[in-house]
Amino acid sequence: MPSKQRKIAMMGYRSVGKSSLIIQFVEGQFVDSYDPTIENTFTKFIRLNSTEYEVKLVDTAGQDEYSIFPLQYSMDFHGYVLVYSITSSKSFQIVQIIYDKLLDMVGKIHVPIVLVGNKTDLHLERKISTDEGKRLAEKWKAAFVETSAKRNESVTDMFHAILSEIERSDGHIQEK
Ligand code: GDP
Ligand code: MG
Repeated sequence: MPSKQRKIAMMGYRSVGKSSLIIQFVEGQFVDSYDPTIENTFTKFIRLNSTEYEVKLVDTAGQDEYSIFPLQYSMDFHGYVLVYSITSSKSFQIVQIIYDKLLDMVGKIHVPIVLVGNKTDLHLERKISTDEGKRLAEKWKAAFVETSAKRNESVTDMFHAILSEIERSDGHIQEK
């Protein structure tokens, strides 16, 4: 059986760990200083629930409150990973701004999204509680995962979560 292709965008404020999460997942290493301006697409084949996926992960340079939602990110993407850092309140605000713009642009009622709170290893610098993250994800009806790209904690779970969200919404469309 041919593998299912999935195209996923990583979005969020700068320095939250978008690239680090992708590189940890795809290459199994933590790179301490990755060029923040690079926008790369990474491909990984994975097997989940006896389905073979070809996952294309599109890394973005990051967004802020003034960014216009890039039109190319509203088309032919199956799902979105919205990343903040648990050490940055600003990044938590930005993720909500990105979400609003995303829903406006995509024009679908249900968009598969995983909200990710990264850098859990920096617990002494934590500004956003697990509960706050959870509540926001519930409001969006999105999945929620806290990760550490540095320690490789829950990184695989997070990519599995977005694939599951996409499957769920696929089923939803077929039911209509
Ligand atoms: P991006 O701009 O969102 O792509 O962020 P990067 O992946 O370039 O990471 C920004 C900075 O945060 C870099 O110095 C990373 O090494 C660091 N970083 C990323 N993820 C983690 C993490 O889970 N824990 C810690 N302690 N640092 C991280
Ligand atoms: Mg980056």
